[in-house]
Amino acid sequence: MVSILLKHGTVITMNERREIIKDGAVAIDGNRIVAVGKTSDIVKEYPRADREYNCTHRLILPGFVDCHVHLAQALLRGCADDLSLVDWLTKRVHPLQGSYTPREGELSAKLCCIEMIKSGTTCFVESSLHWKYGLDEVPRAVEEVGMRGAISKKLMNLPGYADFPEAIHPDMREDGETAMRQCIQMIKRWHGKANNRIHIWFGPRTPGGATVEYYREIGENARKYQTGITLHLAEVQDDIRYMRNEFGMTPMQFMKHCNLVGPDVKVIYVHCVWMPPEDFPILRETGGTVCHCPASNLKLASGFAPIPEMLDAGVNVALGCDGGPSNDCYDMIREMKLAAIIHKARLLNPIVMPAERVLEMATVNGAKATLWGDELGSIEPGKLADVIVVNMRKSHLVPVRNPVSTLVYAANGSDVETVIIDGRVVMEKRKILTIDEEKVIEEASRVGPEVDARRGLRIGPNWPVIE
Ligand SMILES: [Zn+2]
Repeated sequence: MVSILLKHGTVITMNERREIIKDGAVAIDGNRIVAVGKTSDIVKEYPRADREYNCTHRLILPGFVDCHVHLAQALLRGCADDLSLVDWLTKRVHPLQGSYTPREGELSAKLCCIEMIKSGTTCFVESSLHWKYGLDEVPRAVEEVGMRGAISKKLMNLPGYADFPEAIHPDMREDGETAMRQCIQMIKRWHGKANNRIHIWFGPRTPGGATVEYYREIGENARKYQTGITLHLAEVQDDIRYMRNEFGMTPMQFMKHCNLVGPDVKVIYVHCVWMPPEDFPILRETGGTVCHCPASNLKLASGFAPIPEMLDAGVNVALGCDGGPSNDCYDMIREMKLAAIIHKARLLNPIVMPAERVLEMATVNGAKATLWGDELGSIEPGKLADVIVVNMRKSHLVPVRNPVSTLVYAANGSDVETVIIDGRVVMEKRKILTIDEEKVIEEASRVGPEVDARRGLRIGPNWPVIE
């Protein structure tokens, strides 16, 4: 007897040989996958389960790992569309986020987690949590919703961004010592909690927001507490210019200088749009992960990251949705499609980013970037049971010739039907089982405009409105 049996589905295992099992089954017991194979074989071994799912016409695959998420920005969806980067940040995103109460941070985290689950994401890396969003409220929300996540505490000791010394909105600035103390407190309270579903990481600000000494302290502490580090890097050309002018270094040379490289610590560098080719070998040798966020890079006009080039150089590249104002959704299936198609046009070469390569980024590569490592990202006996079921019996998905390319190019998040995280069914037939989704939607719809009003903003349509 096992706890969950998924049968008669097409299993995209993502195992070493990348096997796809037709009429396959997955048996889950506790929080682990115990058996994977042909349904006829698995039901002989496990004839009964507490919960059984007939997955005919469905894909069974590992849940997506979103390596770059801003939980607190779900509530800011649509707050800064079609603005210049400076206005986007200084007139909307920072003033609004800087006015948050922990209650709003918690609400945004719940909204974000629900959206992620509903589009098949089972594990995420939050990039930088400000104390205003609720250093206990946010992990508690993640615990309650039932997700797996690495939550990084924002760390900064300068108010700058690249060579703009006062770039950070006064309400978003933090004191370096306090932020470090809060991060360590969070580690002590939350790291490994919720059956090891929650990890706490270090989230230093982009170069310009911290001194070299502070970065080194972060590197030391991440090693001491055996956790990870994530930061935005080389997102825009200003970043590159700053590191070259101030330090005479490329981004990865600077990271090495600041002790923010592995392989003895996991580091996720986000965006890397302007990362020069001489940095690729440093990334490979130090085992760092690059997190590609194509929607954000396109919407904010940051540029095109050299992703196929990095993959060819042996760099581990994962995928991320970034935030509510920069994407504006947290749907990894949409993100996979963008990652697969933009580089084809940029390089005038349709074979550079096959669907298979992109699905690897969203699963195994993302898992490798986290501390769960090879315990996640594939469907194999012994692995953690983070599994999703996608309904492929739909007019926009049939006929399904290659399920991997149909998933990447034709599907969207709402085709995800059932989601299991750590062996627990958190969504069944698109209904969230852990918290009241309607209540969160109702509250978020109301609170979003309240946050705008607090800053005297009325954000609405650009066209005349008849009330
Ligand atoms: Zn970001």
